Amino acid sequence: MVTIEEAHKIIKAQKVKLKTETRELSDCLGFSISEDINARFDMPSFDNSAMDGYALCGISLEYTIVGEVAAGDKKEFELKEGEAVRIFTGAKVPENISAVMMQEKTNVDGSKLSLEQMPKEGLNIRKKGEELTQGQLVFKKGTTITPAGIGLIGSLGIQKVEVFRKPLINLITTGNELIAPGKPKAEGQIYESNSYALAAACEQFGFHCHDKKQIEDDFEAIKSGIKDSLETSDVLILSGGISVGDYDFVKQALEENGVEEQFYKVFQKPGKPLYFGRKEDKFVFALPGNPASSLSCFYVYVMPFLYQLSGSEKNGLQRYSFPISHAFENKGDRPSFLKAKINNGIVEILDGQGSSMILSMAHGNAMAFIDAETSLKKGEKVECLLIS
Ligand code: AMP
Ligand code: MG
Repeated sequence: MVTIEEAHKIIKAQKVKLKTETRELSDCLGFSISEDINARFDMPSFDNSAMDGYALCGISLEYTIVGEVAAGDKKEFELKEGEAVRIFTGAKVPENISAVMMQEKTNVDGSKLSLEQMPKEGLNIRKKGEELTQGQLVFKKGTTITPAGIGLIGSLGIQKVEVFRKPLINLITTGNELIAPGKPKAEGQIYESNSYALAAACEQFGFHCHDKKQIEDDFEAIKSGIKDSLETSDVLILSGGISVGDYDFVKQALEENGVEEQFYKVFQKPGKPLYFGRKEDKFVFALPGNPASSLSCFYVYVMPFLYQLSGSEKNGLQRYSFPISHAFENKGDRPSFLKAKINNGIVEILDGQGSSMILSMAHGNAMAFIDAETSLKKGEKVECLLIS
């Protein structure tokens, strides 16, 4: 048995050579950049107008309009003091322009332009290189690409991006009692829901579960299922069969497949019978079958590890402290992740904390972390892990 901190430490310490791939710009949201990206040119790469209006040569209130320049135009103007050109947002500002006046503050009579106020030098001109200069570091290796990041990379003219490959994830659920949703349920059976919740949790963080299997509580079947799934995955997630019951075959089946235990059992509630193992560069999490336990173990341990394998600087759920809505006592001897709801900056510990109970988790939006044998008064701050 390890503590929560030890479990995290063991997970973080796993050394593995990250794989990289080249992806189309349009297809790299959520991936982590595998090499620094530097600006290939100044941005903007030429002085341009921030407004629709008039580009002015010299500072005064009266000008003569001598032409027009629109966004994308290549034409060059040589303006003399007192001359102006009609200009539009994004258009290249001619060489000796002092300022751009927005059209709302001008009056035009034929070629005569008069301004309602004196322009200031440099007004409404976006200067070459004011956002980025050539060679400047734009993204450090490991940065996760956001929509704005995609926009920025595109604006640098980059169409193919070097990123860390995301891990291939396979899922195995075990249990004789499990039947797929949509099928008629016989006495003693329950609907298999963990694979759906876990696959969705993968998607929630930008990961994809490639294959899922449901296997009976049969040692040989589990052993050969693990063998096949390991071959096609970087991370294998199992649910159920990892506790101490007579039909819990997962641990032994993993051992017989050459998976080496990194830790088994974490001193926490829920999710005590959590297993983490490794076979060469492949990793296995065997999660307890109780629906709330398996999902909270995913959030607390699996998800950060998926980020780790993806070369991401992210390391898990966001954590914030909020005042608690009512006095609460964690009477248990284990630190607990409690299903909770944050509302208007106050956290409520929800009813229905049993390991099997997914209702409170589905209605909540956080897990409140409360140490063993700890009493909290109303209004005391509690650390919360945000799950949505
Ligand atoms: P186990 O960890 O196999 O002992 O299972 C613990 C509890 O979780 C039992 O009540 C199981 O019926 C239930 N359970 C196990 N796997 C699943 C699953 N995939 N979906 C829903 N419930 C499950
Ligand atoms: Mg079972």
